[in-house]
Amino acid sequence: MARDLGPKCKQCRREGVKLFLKGERCLTEKCAIERRSYPPGEHGRGRIKQSEYLLQLREKQKARRFYGIFERQFRNYYKKAARQSGVTGEQLLRLLEMRLDNVVYRLGFASSRSQARQIIRHGHFQVNGRRVNIPSFQLKPDDVVLLKSRSPIESVVRDATDLTASVPAWLQADHDNLSATVLKPPERDEIDAPVEEQLIVELYSR
Ligand code: SF4
Repeated sequence: MARDLGPKCKQCRREGVKLFLKGERCLTEKCAIERRSYPPGEHGRGRIKQSEYLLQLREKQKARRFYGIFERQFRNYYKKAARQSGVTGEQLLRLLEMRLDNVVYRLGFASSRSQARQIIRHGHFQVNGRRVNIPSFQLKPDDVVLLKSRSPIESVVRDATDLTASVPAWLQADHDNLSATVLKPPERDEIDAPVEEQLIVELYSR
């Protein structure tokens, strides 16, 4: 499975916003955005000519990087969202939020989405009692997510829960038993992705 192994902090600096790609480090003063809040590269501090297309492109790249998804997969999510009823941009974010890796991260069972992806791929989580090792697995309301009993990574997951201040209202987490239930799909105001999804819709509608 393809993985983006490029420098994560550069992605945040490129988008000019914290994307929280590095777990605990993102909460410290070592965060690269705190120290160098300008884009990377030789011309990082120069003026960039803005255009409507560039704004739309940056917004799409930001969303893609926030959720750790490659271009083709992201476009497929957009196509799926466009086929659904409702506001396409919101449907897109909802699909991304209901991915298993995102839910594991939102529950506080991993310190970042990339860590969530790794522990899911290694088969440490169950959904409704069945082992699921696909990070993009799409969850539904009433699905129960559980760390496998006697998992060797239990201490890693517990360390991550200790860092978690809160869990969104559309999820119900039991940090003692390392299990959770999806209560409902999230509303837009329950999704904290720092993106203007309408710009992404405009980009793909060109
Ligand atoms: Fe982004 Fe985290 Fe790096 Fe800060 S520390 S720039 S939030 S990945």
